[in-house]
Amino acid sequence: MSQSTQTCVGVLGGGQLGRMLALEARRMGFQVIQWTGGDTSGAAKLADEALTASFDCEDTMEKFISLCDVVTVEFENIPNTLLEKVSARLPLMPGVRAVSICQNREMEKSFLADNGIPTATFRIVDNAQGLESALLDIPGDVILKTVESGYDGKGQMMVPDGPNRPGAEEIWQTFGGGRAIVEQKINLAAELSVMVVRSQSGDIVTYDPAENVHRNHILDTSTVPARMPAELTEEAKSVATQVAEALDYVGVIGVEFFLDQSNVLLVNEMAPRPHNSGHHTLDACETSQFEQQLRAICGLPLGSTRMLKPAVMWNLLGDIWPSATTAPDWSPILKTPGAKLHIYGKSEARVGRKMGHVTFLADTIEEATSHAQACMAAYSWD
Ligand code: ADP
Ligand code: MG
Repeated sequence: MSQSTQTCVGVLGGGQLGRMLALEARRMGFQVIQWTGGDTSGAAKLADEALTASFDCEDTMEKFISLCDVVTVEFENIPNTLLEKVSARLPLMPGVRAVSICQNREMEKSFLADNGIPTATFRIVDNAQGLESALLDIPGDVILKTVESGYDGKGQMMVPDGPNRPGAEEIWQTFGGGRAIVEQKINLAAELSVMVVRSQSGDIVTYDPAENVHRNHILDTSTVPARMPAELTEEAKSVATQVAEALDYVGVIGVEFFLDQSNVLLVNEMAPRPHNSGHHTLDACETSQFEQQLRAICGLPLGSTRMLKPAVMWNLLGDIWPSATTAPDWSPILKTPGAKLHIYGKSEARVGRKMGHVTFLADTIEEATSHAQACMAAYSWD
């Protein structure tokens, strides 16, 4: 492939990750063709050309392939058949195997087990009887998750333990059937994530781990660098590197970890793309995760991941929008020193929908945290 920023980058998916990738691509002189699969809200507006047909449209696929030099994904739930067809004709990075493993929780957990990487205890079930025996095997609270198509807590159901727990049949019906993973609910000390970038020649760089707080299974804040003992952050980076190598990965991958109460690190899941907990890299690091993705897939040298300042990232969800089409008053954020506001240009806000984020930069984590907390309180988000 040409070592050039003239390359035309094709992106499958049309959300905010594609939008931020397109912004970085434009700055660096790449062309971007975005195939959103239907979404017209965020990314499509910034690409050189946006294709909005559904992912099974053969004509659109032909057009997409004819325009692009290299293809990547900004969302893992792209139909596998499309990934196969594209990769038969153009370099697709990350490759089909890596994306397929990350898009299916059953494959993902087996991959981790095969590579000796610890995870929460789990069972795969596809009926109420299976669920019943899984509930006997796994003590305490569990979480049921669909094996495919889940993200931001979608397709998940908490099943608390206790005398009021309904029978397996009723739980299975409420969940809606299908094929699911039953996962032990971990008593979390913290959640971490590590963004890893791997080049076509196998060079690897990692970012400092982020410490993530979720609300209703959706990322709320990321604090970076994570306030963890040095040996834990080194262990997280080393496991994340091992994951990228075992997947023969090219590009940016986000590896999510649970830290349990005994300080044991468990891998939760992987995202085969830039990750929400890496958004701070746009403002806080020498090279953003989006720039790294472009460098990696275009065969260019990787950049430094060095942090310029500690950062706290806060996700702006539709919940704080006064109405679906009215944005909040951003003055409290704009008046905060070191606060960088990012809005994704989505036309309608909904509860739980990611509409933007703010990165609070400061000289210390404590200062960044207090700025973040003050702003969150200003939007009644405490
Ligand atoms: P998604 O694909 O929606 O990100 P995750 O499996 O990462 O799915 O779940 C989202 C969040 O829900 C996690 O980051 C964590 O906060 C919580 N969660 C999920 N599984 C567990 C678990 N087994 N134990 C404790 N918390 C969990
Ligand atoms: Mg997750």
